[in-house]
Amino acid sequence: MKYIVVTGGVMSGLGKGITMASIGRILKNRGYNIVPIKIDPYINIDAGTMNPFQHGEVYVLGDGAEVDLDLGHYERFMDVELGREHNITTGIIYSAVIERERKGDYLGQTVQIIPHVTNEIKARIRSVAEKSGADVCLVEIGGTVGDIESMPFLEAVRQMQGEEDENDFLFVHVTLVPFTLLREPKTKPTQHSVKALRELGLQPDIIVCRCERALKEDVKAKIAMFCNVKKEAVISAPDAGDIYEVPLLLEQEGIAGYTMRKLQLTQLTEEDHEWAQMVERRRRSSEGKKISVALVGKYAELEDSYLSIKEAIKHAATELGCNVETKWIEAEDLEGVDGLDSFFEGVQGILVPGGFGVRGVEGKINAIEYAREHKIPFLGLCFGFQLAVIEAARNIAGLKDAHSSELCETPHPVIDLLEEQQGVEEKGGTMRLGDYEVFIRKDTLAERIFGKNKIVERHRHRYEVNPAYIERIESEGVIFSGTDRSGVRMEIVEMEEHPFFFATQFHPEFKSRPDNPSPPFKAFVEACLRE
Ligand code: GLN
Repeated sequence: MKYIVVTGGVMSGLGKGITMASIGRILKNRGYNIVPIKIDPYINIDAGTMNPFQHGEVYVLGDGAEVDLDLGHYERFMDVELGREHNITTGIIYSAVIERERKGDYLGQTVQIIPHVTNEIKARIRSVAEKSGADVCLVEIGGTVGDIESMPFLEAVRQMQGEEDENDFLFVHVTLVPFTLLREPKTKPTQHSVKALRELGLQPDIIVCRCERALKEDVKAKIAMFCNVKKEAVISAPDAGDIYEVPLLLEQEGIAGYTMRKLQLTQLTEEDHEWAQMVERRRRSSEGKKISVALVGKYAELEDSYLSIKEAIKHAATELGCNVETKWIEAEDLEGVDGLDSFFEGVQGILVPGGFGVRGVEGKINAIEYAREHKIPFLGLCFGFQLAVIEAARNIAGLKDAHSSELCETPHPVIDLLEEQQGVEEKGGTMRLGDYEVFIRKDTLAERIFGKNKIVERHRHRYEVNPAYIERIESEGVIFSGTDRSGVRMEIVEMEEHPFFFATQFHPEFKSRPDNPSPPFKAFVEACLRE
């Protein structure tokens, strides 16, 4: 097994995840099977309870794991399907060690960070790598070198390097090279972060320098000298207009050749150029017809909280050869105002994404009503689906006070917990997470969109359409066109006599790929193009 470990220096948010996903893609293009692992040095067991304001969206895997959004980059870039074992947190490691201690597995020993915690980390990395059957295991260590939290992980990979064959281990360090006002690149932060790494016994093989503009040779030479790496191993990674270009940019900088030589890998297959072709299609589509989609959300100001949705829209636009601009609208701004025309002027489609909590809910419902009445293409996802059902219950079925029991006391809980979920205390205990089958009704928009009657999509929600209200809501042009296997849970709602009104209880955005857009997103953008 070959290992590539990616660390980060200077500051967070430099795009380590995208760098690692890109290296994975580059190796995949040469015929290698890749397995990525993300290490998050926080004490949370998983990202399920984390505020998207701080960490961006919670990404959901097929097996229901709620993980860091970097796993979304890995899935999209490397075209792999990951599971919960691909995201290791401090919480997971420590609970395993403590559990083992209680069971008496360390009998007589003092349980310590070294070796017990580090052994647990190494064992998990190795087990995921071996089980996957891949050729190369890529490990991203979250956080920044120097953080107390990441120390045990850095120590674990340091030990691993010594235990593995010399040609099987490669360290990539991602840093920042800032430019001064006089446009002079500064290498000192990089030098310091590499120094911090070396104090921990780690010497990077490759340094990826994030920068505004490509670095000149003399700057690379300076970094190489101070940081003890070869000049050709100093890679400049200037800001890319499109993240999907990053594998190509890194490739041009020679990262592939250097990595392969260091790890003694030979090219296994003829190089796969599909990625480059996809990037070219994206470039061309950015010159295509321009449309604007309003995304009505709660964290609208922080685009990372809707990362997969943003990507799925781009995937659809690439395939359809058009340029979709996203207009971020804060849901609360749509409450208590006289008409919404000014908000949606020049917008060809309205999207209401997933969410939790009551803030902004009435604004989202207003947006859905507006889309329905003005016949503007509408896509609702998860919470957006539930609110579309509430809107229909209130304004079509005449249940004025219809609401979700998640949000308030209501005489008409059209969105509610199913009986079997009631009274369960543990947060997350009643969440429906990950892949579930959805059965699609014949002769519906859903059937036209998916082209089949059974699909599998990822879920992350707790509340459901209340079965007691289905008949009443369905009566006037509102159709539940997808359900779970039992027919009890509603999965899709659509509307007759509307150019495109489609909402799903599941999250199609998590399965969208750059060269294979999610069908509902594609159909939505197509409908917007017709406007
Ligand atoms: N809050 C809703 C529920 O729990 C929707 C969740 C979501 O949009 N992910 O059912």
